[in-house]
Amino acid sequence: MENPQNLPWYKRLHWQIFAAMFVGTIAGLIGGPDLVPKVGWLGEIFIKLLKMVIVPLVFTSIVSGVAAVGGGRDVGRLFTKTMGYYVLTSALAALTGLLLVNLIQPGVGAQLAGIEGGELPELTTATTPKDLLLDVVPENVVQASYEGKMLAIIFFCIVLGMTIGALPDKQRTLLTDLFEAGFQAMMRLTGGIIKFAPIGVFGLIVRVVGGSGFASFKALGLYMLTIASGLAVHLFITLPLVLILLGRIKPWIHFRNMIEPMVMAFSTSSSAATLPVTIRSVEKKVGVSNKVTSFVLPMGSTVNMDGTALYECAGVLFIAQVLGAELTLLQQMIVVVTALLASIGAAAVPSAGLVIIFLVLQAVGLQGPQVDAIVGAMFAIDRPLDMARTTVNIFSDSCGAAIIARSEGEENVDTEVVEL
Ligand code: ASP
Repeated sequence: MENPQNLPWYKRLHWQIFAAMFVGTIAGLIGGPDLVPKVGWLGEIFIKLLKMVIVPLVFTSIVSGVAAVGGGRDVGRLFTKTMGYYVLTSALAALTGLLLVNLIQPGVGAQLAGIEGGELPELTTATTPKDLLLDVVPENVVQASYEGKMLAIIFFCIVLGMTIGALPDKQRTLLTDLFEAGFQAMMRLTGGIIKFAPIGVFGLIVRVVGGSGFASFKALGLYMLTIASGLAVHLFITLPLVLILLGRIKPWIHFRNMIEPMVMAFSTSSSAATLPVTIRSVEKKVGVSNKVTSFVLPMGSTVNMDGTALYECAGVLFIAQVLGAELTLLQQMIVVVTALLASIGAAAVPSAGLVIIFLVLQAVGLQGPQVDAIVGAMFAIDRPLDMARTTVNIFSDSCGAAIIARSEGEENVDTEVVEL
């Protein structure tokens, strides 16, 4: 078999995906909305294939990972580190959003009249910390899997993994081996599905480019630029610094190893759909053990959303600026904290971040038909921003996995760029 490290560039998957994005953009621009139904289904099938593996992959990954961690004390330590990382980076992201909107002031004098708002998708997400907690415990595991309630599945898997870890030797080895084998099978399946990524990404990009109306993009240009700059600061400055300071990891190696999940997040706008690819790259390229990935990544995909936290914070301040409402420093801090909570509560699916913005708006008393109209206008141009914030979301998860692995004594993390 050919050594993947020696493949010419055009045979490497990420270049093929970039080429697919480029061709998809051109095709979408030329073909417009007429082309969307003709090739958009390619993207839909690809997302379905990825979603098909999520539940069995998460299930086998977490149970085998946690069962291998050992006792409750080790699980507790990993959990504390993971939560600490999530909160730290999401808070930094939200503060970046706050700073940039105050500096650039994109909402002052923005002309939003006449922009046609889109119909917001229906998403049922927990809206209070208590609801979130209640959502975490499943009544019925099969139903939770069916409804894609990630936190509930994760909770069950962690508890099951810990229970298996505490069984007598014979049963523990049997079950751990079984789940480990299932996990390896799901990883291989994911590897097979990823080979179709260029075709799927082509379909997804045509759908985005061909289906967008560009008029609204102009009116909200400065706002989009502000969010994009904030996301860029977090992606290219803050997280690399965190990688260096907390993990002694060379950021460029981490970036190179994470290219595939990043382009996948960009094309699908869904951290959940990207999760199988994220797990594969973080284990096989970055070199993190299943013990750590199984803990940090599935939970991270729905709880740790830096891009979304930044977006919530910046979006709310933007709306306040458009309405001419001055927010006091205290109110701005309330926005930061609720933006953080909202990013935890947001589902890992397209547009979730925008839908949940109402939660943060309410926290500072911004509501009513005018607010609804502005959010509608924001929805009209949300897709590209969603693509960018989802990329940041999954990149932060992967940094967390690498840093925590290093702190657990795993020395082979991000020591070189790996091709698969
Ligand atoms: N689409 C994002 C994600 O899946 C969530 C959001 O809309 O901010 O990570």
